Amino acid sequence: KLYNQLQEAKGNVRVFCRCRPFNKEEASSGYVTVVDFTAAKDGDLGILTGGSTKRTFKFDRVYTPKDNQVEVFEDASPVVISVLDGYNVCIFAYGQTGTGKTFTMVGTEQNRGVNYRTLEQLFTTAEERKETFAYSVSVSVLEVYNEQIRDLLATSPTSKRLQIRQASEGVHHVPGIVEAKVENIKEVWDVLQAGSSARAVGSNNVNEHSSRSHCMLCILVRAKNLINGECTKSKLWLVDLAGSERLSKTEVRGERLKEAQNINKSLAALGDVISALAIKSSHIPYRNSKLTHLLQDSLGGESKTLMFVQISPSEQDLGETLSSLNFATRVR
Ligand code: ADP
Ligand code: MG
Repeated sequence: KLYNQLQEAKGNVRVFCRCRPFNKEEASSGYVTVVDFTAAKDGDLGILTGGSTKRTFKFDRVYTPKDNQVEVFEDASPVVISVLDGYNVCIFAYGQTGTGKTFTMVGTEQNRGVNYRTLEQLFTTAEERKETFAYSVSVSVLEVYNEQIRDLLATSPTSKRLQIRQASEGVHHVPGIVEAKVENIKEVWDVLQAGSSARAVGSNNVNEHSSRSHCMLCILVRAKNLINGECTKSKLWLVDLAGSERLSKTEVRGERLKEAQNINKSLAALGDVISALAIKSSHIPYRNSKLTHLLQDSLGGESKTLMFVQISPSEQDLGETLSSLNFATRVR
C-alpha cells in the first residue's frame, strides 16, 4: 500500500541504500566511519568527506549496519508482490566488491536474502489468492561475463552462444535457456544452490569470478484469472551485479583489462538506461549491453525497478562510496 502511494507521487524507480557493518579487520584496526545515519529514518544519508564537510544523499530508504534481512525485505515485498498483479519487476544490487551485494540478494543459509524471500513471498501470496488466481512459477539462473550469457541451470555445458530474442513487443527471451518449474519453497533453495555451484565451475577463484560477473535470477510468473479466464505472464529479475570499483591502472592487464572494460561498459549502460527513462527520453539505449538488453522488459514502461546501492562504512572506501552514491543519485 505504501509502495502504491509512493508510486502515484513518483516514478517507477526506488533506490534503497544499505551500509554493511565494519568487518573484523576494520574493527580491530580502529577504522573510522564516514557515514552519518542521524537522519536515516527520513531517507537521508550523510557522508563525511573530510574536515567538517558533509554531503547528504536522499534515498527512499536508508539501512544502517544494524538493519537485518527481514527489515530490508519488508520494504521490498510490495514491489515483489506486484509481479503477481502482472507487472514486470527488476531488483538489483549495485556497489563496490565487499559491500554486501551478495549478502543482500543471496544471503546465507541462516540469513537468507532477497532472492529466497522473494520466492517465499510469491508462494505465500499465491496461496492466499488461490480462489481467484492459478499461478505457476519457474526460474532461470544465468550469468553475464564478458558480455556472454551462461545458463547456470544447464545440465550439460553447451558451447552454443546464448542469444536474446524478441518474441513480440515487450517480450524478450533467451531461446534454449532452462526454465525450472518450482512448485513450492522447498524446491527453491536447491535450484538456487545448483545455480551458485555452476557459477564456480571453470573459475579458480569463485569470489573473484563472481565479483566480475553479473548473476541474474529470472522468475517467470504465469497467472490465470479463474473468474474471467484471463492469462498473463510477467517477469521478475533479481540481479547481483559485478563490483562497480575501478581497478588501478597498474593492476589491469590482459584478461583483467577486458573484464574491467566489460563491467564498466555494462554498468554504465545500466545507468544510461535508467536515467534516459527518468527524463522520458525518446530513445532508451537498451542494446548497449547484454545486461540492459536482458532486463529490457523489466526496466521502463509499466515495470517497477528497485535498486540497492551498497556501501562500506570505512574511510578507506570513501572514493568508491561517493562514486556509488553518485550513480544511485543519477538514476533516482
Ligand atoms: P559483495 O557481494 O558486494 O562483494 P558480500 O555480500 O560478499 O559483498 O559481503 C562481504 C562480506 O560482508 C561478507 O562476509 C558478508 O557476509 C558481510 N556482510 C555484508 N553485508 C552485511 C550485513 N548487512 N550484515 C552482516 N554482514 C554483512
Ligand atoms: Mg558478491
